[in-house]
Amino acid sequence: MKKNIPDSGKNNLITAVVADKEGKIIELEGYAAVGMAGSSFVPLSTGNTIDMPYGGEFMFLPDRSPVVFNLKTNRPETLKENPYSPGEPVFPVAAFNSPGYVISLVSAYREKEAARQLPLFSYGALGWHEGGFRTAVILVDREKRQDLRRMPREKITAGIRAMKKKLPHNRLLDHIENCALKYGCPAAKNFFLRRYEAPLPTSKSCNAACMGCISLQTDSGIRNSQERISFTPSPEEIAEIALEHIRKVKRSVVSFGQGCEGDPLLAAHVIEPAIKLIRSETGSGTINMNTNGSLPEIMERLFDAGLDSIRISMNSVRKECYDAYFRPKGYVFSDIIKSIDRALERKIFVSINYLNCPGFTDSPEEVDALVAFIKERPVNFIQWRNLNFDPLRYWKVMSGVTAMSAPVGISEMLSMIRKEFPDLKHGYFNPPKEKF
Ligand code: SF4
Repeated sequence: MKKNIPDSGKNNLITAVVADKEGKIIELEGYAAVGMAGSSFVPLSTGNTIDMPYGGEFMFLPDRSPVVFNLKTNRPETLKENPYSPGEPVFPVAAFNSPGYVISLVSAYREKEAARQLPLFSYGALGWHEGGFRTAVILVDREKRQDLRRMPREKITAGIRAMKKKLPHNRLLDHIENCALKYGCPAAKNFFLRRYEAPLPTSKSCNAACMGCISLQTDSGIRNSQERISFTPSPEEIAEIALEHIRKVKRSVVSFGQGCEGDPLLAAHVIEPAIKLIRSETGSGTINMNTNGSLPEIMERLFDAGLDSIRISMNSVRKECYDAYFRPKGYVFSDIIKSIDRALERKIFVSINYLNCPGFTDSPEEVDALVAFIKERPVNFIQWRNLNFDPLRYWKVMSGVTAMSAPVGISEMLSMIRKEFPDLKHGYFNPPKEKF
């Protein structure tokens, strides 16, 4: 283990938490909690954590041993068993944090032999202090768009009933109902609650094979967390849903490219006429597309039809790192760059859906590349999203294609980027055009 644990300064170290084999979380007095980022281990303190935000979930990490900091020996330790109850195994715990918060450190652990890959979540570092959990996250978006406290099930089901009366034959509506009730998708819930951003899933296929694709996994041994949409809605079905939302909701956003589909560019044959239909009825509302941005010519047709904004998903702006994660099948990295350039030329609002994994994202090599990229291509917005993927496996893949020096820290990286690019906006959600 690298012992590059810095002094936590004036901040109080917070107490380590682990899980027993039943998943019960135990506080370990005498040990401080530790987070990790690449090969760096960092003790958690009141300075680099905040009270765990509402809506976060606790994750139990099987096949792994927690790394904690022994306050007596002043050394990090990998725990094989409960130090207060020898023979009893202990496991790491992590926080899957709420939307709007980006993780700055991952829960620290070591894999046991033959450890299975972790499922598709992010694993934020967690500890205990003065009667509550704290986690290593940074707030990047204050909007309460996906706050679960504001999504009571009875209001969602009432919204579904009302919408079904209005659009009784719309198959896309049935699909979004399933997303809201079965998968708990916050975007789908917001559609029935008549606010913010409505999802418009359309595409059954994709031309990438992302390591962490949540709608299709074929060779990883892990499960995708959502099922892909199994049909292609018609332009009329799409426009009906979009118009319902736009007509009712102030500063509305409707978005192609959801977690339950492939890439919407592969369904442009229905999306292009759908956008034209929407725009023939109203100029209001923001029509957005979340996409891998891989088909610049098709993208231009959609701009012509009336698409207002795009959000391009990237784990890195460097080809070798991008390719290692996205594993493009039907395009090359420079196609994405073309799409971004054409959008900027056309004054289309461009966000990067930047998939953050501490240790890689805040490595000096990555930060330098991002800064150079934004200098050349002044995108409008960065959505800081937590990469939902096993962090150790991700670092291994990335260090196979690039150097990964000791990270500067997510907080430091954000400050540098804010200072260097004062006009660049940061957040978590797609903004309506009133905020462009
Ligand atoms: S681009 Fe999206 S849909 Fe396509 S493989 Fe990646 S995550 Fe899945």
